[in-house]
Amino acid sequence: MGHEFIGVVEDAGSEVTTVKRGDLVVAPFAISDNTCAFCREGLHTSCAHPQAGFWDGEPEEGGQAEAVRVPLADGTLVKLPVAPDSALIPSLLTLSDVFGTGYHAAVAGGVNERTRVTVIGDGAVGLLAVLSAKRLGAEQIILMGRHAARTDLGREFGATDVVSARGEEGIAQVRELTGGHGTHAVLEAVGTMSILTASRPDIRTWPTARASRSSSSPDPSVMRRSTHVP
Ligand SMILES: [Zn+2]
Repeated sequence: MGHEFIGVVEDAGSEVTTVKRGDLVVAPFAISDNTCAFCREGLHTSCAHPQAGFWDGEPEEGGQAEAVRVPLADGTLVKLPVAPDSALIPSLLTLSDVFGTGYHAAVAGGVNERTRVTVIGDGAVGLLAVLSAKRLGAEQIILMGRHAARTDLGREFGATDVVSARGEEGIAQVRELTGGHGTHAVLEAVGTMSILTASRPDIRTWPTARASRSSSSPDPSVMRRSTHVP
């Protein structure tokens, strides 16, 4: 969709201090100053700056174009420590959205080496939530998904168990895998309130469920606090 992108800086405005011509940078889907109270909390999608927003809200937005003007460049762009011609670029693009979203969910869920985690959803965000939980050292990572090709990739990324069943049967299987206790955190990567509600019985200690996709959530209070971070 072009609402997030990776690219090389062609030119920078006179007030921009953190990036310069030639830098390889990643731009998340949110435009933010990275300095306000919300940004300091890691809630860049709630940035209070008047120019903050989303690429979809810009008059001529889009990473599909040959060039794009980036508002609040110091806050929005993140300089990457690799050369612009790096073979890693296709993978690094995931930092603009899906990886950051999965990682934010894992961090917000308090995942660490003593944590058992359930990840609901085997799409890109769910799989990268698995990878993030693995990086954070989670003791057990249960991936709930029913697409074999994706859950196989999830196992490569660090899932210790896969549950394909949904609803009560799925919850029962998660409990069985955890000695009847459920997991410390549930990372919801599907994006519906029904899924978020259904995740509660899996959780040992309320409230540690974190929604990692919120665009379809009808509840603004959930949307605000279950946000993405670049
Ligand atoms: Zn801000």
